Amino acid sequence: MCAPRLAQPAGYQPRRPGKTVLHKVVREHMETFFAGMDEAGITLPRTIRKEFEAFLACGDLSAGFLRGECRACRKALLIPFSCKRRTACPSCGAKRMAATAAHLVDRVLPEDVPVRHWVISLPFDIRYALIKDRSLLSAVLRIFIDVVFTRYRDRSRCGPDGQCGAVAAIHRSDSSLRVNPHFHLVVLDGAYQIGNEEDASPSFHGARHPTDEELRAIATKVAKRVRRLFLRRGLIDEDGMPIEEVEPTVTDGQVQFGWLTADGDAIIAEPDRTGGGTSCAEVAGFSVYAGQALQDRDRIEKLCRYVSRPPFAHEQLAETKDGRIAIKLKRPRRSGETHAFMKPVQLLRRLTSLIPPAGMNLTRFFGILAPAAKHRCNVVPVPDILLHISPNGTEPVLPPRRDGLDWASLLRRVYDIDVLDCPCGGRIRIIAAIESPAVIRRILKHFDLRADPPPIAPARGPPEGDGWFASL
Ligand SMILES: [Zn+2]
Ligand SMILES: [Zn+2]
Repeated sequence: MCAPRLAQPAGYQPRRPGKTVLHKVVREHMETFFAGMDEAGITLPRTIRKEFEAFLACGDLSAGFLRGECRACRKALLIPFSCKRRTACPSCGAKRMAATAAHLVDRVLPEDVPVRHWVISLPFDIRYALIKDRSLLSAVLRIFIDVVFTRYRDRSRCGPDGQCGAVAAIHRSDSSLRVNPHFHLVVLDGAYQIGNEEDASPSFHGARHPTDEELRAIATKVAKRVRRLFLRRGLIDEDGMPIEEVEPTVTDGQVQFGWLTADGDAIIAEPDRTGGGTSCAEVAGFSVYAGQALQDRDRIEKLCRYVSRPPFAHEQLAETKDGRIAIKLKRPRRSGETHAFMKPVQLLRRLTSLIPPAGMNLTRFFGILAPAAKHRCNVVPVPDILLHISPNGTEPVLPPRRDGLDWASLLRRVYDIDVLDCPCGGRIRIIAAIESPAVIRRILKHFDLRADPPPIAPARGPPEGDGWFASL
C-alpha cells in the first residue's frame, strides 16, 4: 500500500535544507572545525555551536513540525519548525528580512514622506574593535546618525528643533563574509517641524539630494568624531595607531578571488591590492554613500528588504570541484572577479565571527521614529488591521510578532501564495504542534518520510603537512 498523500498548496515548495551547500558544509565540517579551535586554544561562545546545530535542524521534519489538515479533503500538511537564527541560517534570515521590511513599511515609515538610503563603511583598522565591542559599535552608529540628522535639519530649514527620523540596520560583514561592520540607514528625507500648542501635528519639510561636497563634509565629521571617541576610550594613540594589536584569532587570513566555471572549476585571479568599492565620498577610510530619494511604497519596501538582508543567501554558495566553497560576490570586484573561494572550515570560521552576541538588536530606530519619541504616534502609518488577521494558528517557534504578522500571512505577502489553501479548494487548519520524538517518528513513517536527522560527520584530523587552522 502506498503512503497517504500530503496536501500540496499551490506554489508552496517545502524547503529541502539538507540539499544546500551550507548544510553539507556544517554537517561534514562542524566537528572538525570545533576540534581545531579547541586545539588552538580558542574558546568560542556557546551560542556558536547552538547556532550551527539549530541551523541543521531548521526545516527538518525529523526535528518537529506543525500538523495541519484540510477541512474538506482531510489531506495533511506538515510544516517543519524553523530555527530563527540570524546569521548562519540564510532561510530564516530571508524570512526575517521580509518580516522586517513589511513591518517598516506598514508600521514605521510615515506615508507620503520620501526616504533616502545612506551607508557608511569604516576603515579597516577599527573594524575588529567594533565587532568585539557592541557599545562601541552603537556609539559609532550614533555619531553617524547625529551627523546625518544635523545635515537634514540644516537643509530642510527646520532649525535646531526640526525632528529627523531613521531606521538603521547593522551589518557585520561584506559579501565575501569578511568582518566588515557597516551601517545602512533608511532616513526620512527631510525633517519635521512640530506645530504649536493648538496644532501639534508635525509638518514635513523635504531636503534636496546631497552634493558630493556635503557627503565629503559628512565623512570628515564622522571620521573626526570617531577618532576622538577611540582616543577617549584609549583604543588609539595620538598618532591614530591602534594601541591593542588585533588578535590573530579574529583576523581570518586571505581568501582567494576569481571566477567559477559552470563545471565547478575555480579560476583564481592574480592577487590584486586595488580591490574594494568606490563611493561618493571617502575620508580617512570612512566612506559615505547616499542613494536616490524614494517615495513609492513598493520601492521603499524593496529598499527595506535590501538593508535588512541576511549576510548571505544559499544561492550565493557553490562547491568547487576541488572541494572548496565559492561565494558569489554581490558585485564583481573592480578587477572583475566574481567569486571568493575558501575551504569549508574557513567558511565556518568566518561565519562564527559574524554571529552577533545573543540579544543584540541589529535594527534600530532613531529620532522621531525611536520607540519612545514623543511625536512618533503622529507620523507612523496607521496599521491596516485586515492584513494582520490570520485565519489559523501561527507557527509556534515564531513567537507572535508584535506587529501580528504571522508566518502564513508573510508567505502570502512575499510570494503571493497562501500556504493554508488546499488545492481541493478547502482550507487547511493547523491542528497540532508535534514535538515528541516518538510521535514525530510515527507520523513521518506513516507518510513514508525520512525520520532521522542527517548524520553529522565526526571530527577529522588536519590534513598532513597542512596547519589548517594556521592557514585560515
Ligand atoms: Zn483539501
Ligand atoms: Zn533557520
